[in-house]
Amino acid sequence: MLIDLHIHGPHSRGTSKQLSITNLEKYARIKGIDLLGTGDFTHPVWLAHLREHLEERGGLLYTKTGFPFMLSTEISSIYSQDGKTRKIHQVLLAPNFDIVEQIREALLKHGRLDYDGRPIFGLPAPEIVELAMEASKDCFVFPAHIWTPWFSLFGSNSGFDSMKDCYQDMLKHVHAIETGMSSDPAMNWRLSQLDDKAILSFSDAHSHWPWRIGREATSINTKPSYTSIIQAFKYKNIEYTVETNPSYGKYHFDGHRNCGISFSPREALAHNNTCPVCKRPLTIGVMHRVEVLADREEEYQPKNATPFKTLIPLSEIISAVTGKGIATAFVWKEYNELVQGSSELQVMLKMNELELRKRSRPAIAEAILKNREGKIQIEPGFDGVYGKPIIETKIIKKGQKTLSDF
Ligand SMILES: [Zn+2]
Ligand SMILES: [Zn+2]
Repeated sequence: MLIDLHIHGPHSRGTSKQLSITNLEKYARIKGIDLLGTGDFTHPVWLAHLREHLEERGGLLYTKTGFPFMLSTEISSIYSQDGKTRKIHQVLLAPNFDIVEQIREALLKHGRLDYDGRPIFGLPAPEIVELAMEASKDCFVFPAHIWTPWFSLFGSNSGFDSMKDCYQDMLKHVHAIETGMSSDPAMNWRLSQLDDKAILSFSDAHSHWPWRIGREATSINTKPSYTSIIQAFKYKNIEYTVETNPSYGKYHFDGHRNCGISFSPREALAHNNTCPVCKRPLTIGVMHRVEVLADREEEYQPKNATPFKTLIPLSEIISAVTGKGIATAFVWKEYNELVQGSSELQVMLKMNELELRKRSRPAIAEAILKNREGKIQIEPGFDGVYGKPIIETKIIKKGQKTLSDF
């Protein structure tokens, strides 16, 4: 069962206003995701939408057509510890609406919940864990996209060097971490402090489009129930994760977006981590930060490591091959012809070459096969700029480019 538990609703900053349970179900099915997080359960309007469209059953919520969701939300903690400002995002999972109400009541004592689907609190990360555990021992909390520079557990700007420093006596309740797009499990294996944590991957999607939801996902081999899924996380029973190439993430390399500077960690060090254009400190990306905190060599692979698959979303591949914008009718048409009667992740991971060639143009079929082997080069992302697949554009036609921001 492929699941994606970190997504957002339409009331979070910078998200698509067309996000709804109906659209999420529709595109999750097209993508090949079997269960989604609801996102943003703390937000009153989104929560009302969830209650209206979903029915509670065995710790999960179901649409009328039987698609399962799990109650999830993300909370941003901004606080000071050891003389430094800390900004950490965490994902909370809850087993039912009653527990969600308890969490909301506890949070409302510390601030508002109605201005953003991902609210900010002055509560330290471990106090969020404590608050969730007090609401119910069945809640599950894990740090989100742990390497991004600005809002994460290990972030170069406002994070910690160790999980213990961050969580202190609450660490015993934290059983998993989320890799984020700019890192993959292999990068995380290099930190022995993560050995006993499940390495999870989710999309952090801000829209329902299939190049966003499920772009990272986690596969577990259990029946769809809240308890089985949480147990799988606790005991690291993960089948595999789907990852984007870490270079595709927005913070893989170091750099300055506005100055057009993108450096590998080595190049950044050669410049004293300073921007040669504006002379200010560079935004230190994920690759660099892993290098600083790793206590193992690059090739290290732990025993019983969870395997992972590296993929760039199909719409990105078609867009790169055809030279057309990702959200154009042209790319959608190619996409639908490939995915029809199947799902994107089936096409990307399993569809045989003959079938791929039958359904699409040779250049697209070849790119899909290359993608499956992890052989597509990416121009690395940096300082908030997504990485770009480097694929020779083979099919060029005149037309508009309407790159969606979401
Ligand atoms: Zn976040
Ligand atoms: Zn600069």
